[in-house]
Amino acid sequence: MVENLAEIAKERGIQYFLISYVDLFGVLRAKLVPAAAITKMQRDGAGFAGFATHLDQTPAHPDTLAVPDPASLIQLPWKPEVGWLASDLYCDGELVEDAPRNVLKRLIAKARAQGLQMKTGVECEFFLLNQEGTAIGDGLDTYPKPCYDQLALMRQFDLIKALCDGMLTLGWGPYQNDHEDANGQFEMNWEYDDVLVTADRHVFFKYMTKTLAEQAGMRATFMPKPFNGLTGSGCHMHVSVWDGARNLFEDADGELGMSALSYKFLGGVMHSAADLCALFNPSVNSFKRINAPVTASGATWSPNTITYTGNNRTHMVRIPEAGRFEFRLMDGATNPYLAPAAILVAGLDGIANDRDPGERLDINMYTDGHTLKNVRKLPLNLLDALRLMERSEVVREGFGSAFVDSYIKLKMAEWNAFMSHASAWERLHTMDC
Ligand code: ADP
Ligand code: MG
Ligand code: MG
Ligand code: MG
Ligand code: MG
Repeated sequence: MVENLAEIAKERGIQYFLISYVDLFGVLRAKLVPAAAITKMQRDGAGFAGFATHLDQTPAHPDTLAVPDPASLIQLPWKPEVGWLASDLYCDGELVEDAPRNVLKRLIAKARAQGLQMKTGVECEFFLLNQEGTAIGDGLDTYPKPCYDQLALMRQFDLIKALCDGMLTLGWGPYQNDHEDANGQFEMNWEYDDVLVTADRHVFFKYMTKTLAEQAGMRATFMPKPFNGLTGSGCHMHVSVWDGARNLFEDADGELGMSALSYKFLGGVMHSAADLCALFNPSVNSFKRINAPVTASGATWSPNTITYTGNNRTHMVRIPEAGRFEFRLMDGATNPYLAPAAILVAGLDGIANDRDPGERLDINMYTDGHTLKNVRKLPLNLLDALRLMERSEVVREGFGSAFVDSYIKLKMAEWNAFMSHASAWERLHTMDC
């Protein structure tokens, strides 16, 4: 039975709903709807002109209707009279092919048909900047090796506490907060859950962090590499696959306590990692985080090759403990729905085709990576990544060609816009030619 949002509004004192969706580029769009009007909206959806957002539509398209999912309801901890809702997009009576949440739900259903439920936990690193976004918000946060810096962490205590209190109220199971490896950079962790639950929370976490940072006179950004020479913002994704209460990735007799099924899943991710890079690292700026030179702190903490290992943070995939993988490729610009969708596409392909992840590497990739022969590299820029994605049969088969073509089309337009813009670096390096 579908929950009745009008009744929930009365019970919980919700006066307004945000009927929202995330577009292809990860931007959060919404209509603010008074509770008195929610019944019709819950049935028919709220209308949007999809072309006005990053969806593959023209101005001539009929309305895109966002039908809210009551199971996603989150009452804003700092403004409980507002209830946030993720929604599924329809156009002309059909699900919109390139709407990220629709795409993820389609892949979740495909996994479920095989008796598989993916669970994920995400680590959304972010920077706190001044309100203009031009410098680190805390002028005293200058220490060259700033990870876990207690002084810098506690200078932001009021904001971090407000965010963590919010997650406690919402029952997400937050368990730690820290200053990360770049000046001005932080991370807050909460418990993993079903992939769709985590994806919706990921969207909401970004919204909550940006909003409360603004209220504190700063600006939060999840941009992958806001400062040359400082560690960028990753969005590591921890993944396990379950059948009811049984973690199918766990096997006490397997290498590092991981099951044969998990290694096939990993084999699929290794096989398609480069082809999916345009989703894990979807911005022009993303490629300044991966493949980057050493940062001021001593390490980038991001990969440039397609390798996996045990509990060692210098590879693309880490197995921190029995029963889960940590995928370290994604950055803060990754779409909260398309990143796990991409992992599902690759992992299910790995299972279906018995893909072999190859040998585990136990070396320090940052210092000894150059000694390896034939190691596969990640693409060096968004254009190369898009070209790989466009040609990948696994990606076309898993996502459907309509989605792939729409994504490539919109992202190529973004790449072309970038290329038409002369940068400060070009002036510096070309002025005296
Ligand atoms: P790291 O050591 O990489 O910094 P964090 O503690 O920051 O790790 O984040 C770990 C994330 O992994 C959390 O969201 C946690 O709940 C999640 N996690 C733990 N076990 C599993 C699992 N079996 N499946 C999926 N996610 C998991
Ligand atoms: Mg209008
Ligand atoms: Mg972490
Ligand atoms: Mg981190
Ligand atoms: Mg991590």
